[in-house]
Amino acid sequence: MTQNPLFATYARADLKFVRGEGAWLTTEDNRRFLDFAAGVAVNSLGHTHPHLTATLKDQADKLWHVSNLYENPLQQKLAERLCAATFADKVFFTNSGAESMECVIKTARRYHYANGQPDRYEILTFDGAFHGRTIATIAAGGQEKYLEGFGPKAPGFTMLAKPDIELVKAAMSDKVAGILLEPLQGEGGIREIDPSFLKALRALCDETGTLLLLDEVQTGVGRTGKLFAHEWAGITPDVMGVAKGIGGGFPFGACLATEKVAEAMIAGTHGSTYGGNALAMAVGNAVLDVVLEDGFLEKVRSNGLNLKQKLAALADTYPDQIETIRGEGLMLGIKCKNTPTELLAKAREHGFLAVPAGDNVLRLLPPLTIGQEEIEFAISALNAALADLQDAQTAS
Ligand SMILES: *Cc1c(COP(=O)(O)O)cnc(C)c1O
Repeated sequence: MTQNPLFATYARADLKFVRGEGAWLTTEDNRRFLDFAAGVAVNSLGHTHPHLTATLKDQADKLWHVSNLYENPLQQKLAERLCAATFADKVFFTNSGAESMECVIKTARRYHYANGQPDRYEILTFDGAFHGRTIATIAAGGQEKYLEGFGPKAPGFTMLAKPDIELVKAAMSDKVAGILLEPLQGEGGIREIDPSFLKALRALCDETGTLLLLDEVQTGVGRTGKLFAHEWAGITPDVMGVAKGIGGGFPFGACLATEKVAEAMIAGTHGSTYGGNALAMAVGNAVLDVVLEDGFLEKVRSNGLNLKQKLAALADTYPDQIETIRGEGLMLGIKCKNTPTELLAKAREHGFLAVPAGDNVLRLLPPLTIGQEEIEFAISALNAALADLQDAQTAS
């Protein structure tokens, strides 16, 4: 037995998948699983979606990568479509969520710098946040377990204990460049943010010339039943980071901004070798083809509601296991009485995959393309897993 040559950074389950189709995955030894983890909200259209697969193969035969030394019509097209569908006027393409958030942070600071306020670089953030694993984004997330051992925490981030407008007002100063948050916290445990708080933040930002910065890396591109989750609150940000679902499994992300803010990012201020490469852009356009189709988001909303109601019924049946169900669209959380790891382990035994999150939550992030069959399988697998858990606890 040779030693595992990989960094030991991940606690991996002993499952080896070799094929995927829609919401279903098959292992090496031919076991089938319903995938409500979807690569952590990445496989938004499920596995091997025919339109995405055909697009990727077609682009692979034409052109992969030329860098950003040249014009890129596929980037231009995707950026135009994203701007047409959102608050944004400008887009920068990245390769990941953390890179999108780095661009959000840099863009916010550079805006104030360009407006003669170079000391206005502080970003207010909130407890339970997750913004990525780079040096700046672990500082933004502020979680001790991610910061420990990686040298001094990058300066300029102040974490507030909860989404409370009075706390935010008390933390405001002429150093605050922006207020950064996820409109629905993902890794933190599907923690909902009150729409009235987002509205109050927007008003405070307008009053003080502060930028509202949203991390929609997990919530974006249809996940909550709107194209972007901030639409539920009827507000728009100044800058927004997107990734995960936007590529449907092809790794890329984007930073979207208003013209006023993006203006400060002049030639030479930022860059990425791979960002916006032809393969990513072709797939990104194909994802939008599907997500922007008439009725697609309505279906996410109705399936989400249906799934949430059925989960609530499970919570009623197993009050010793489940505290509550929360979330929006197809970004749902089962808040467990204890850690969700045992429930997840049992669910896997019944052919069902999900993702643990903070605050004792098991996250359900299925492909946005699921239907009734998948919802019913999910509920019966979870029901069986909860019954197993209950039995094990009564026996002991
Ligand atoms: C996943 C995630 C990130 C980081 O994305 P990576 O692609 O892993 O760098 C940032 N913010 C949120 C809200 C996320 O869910």
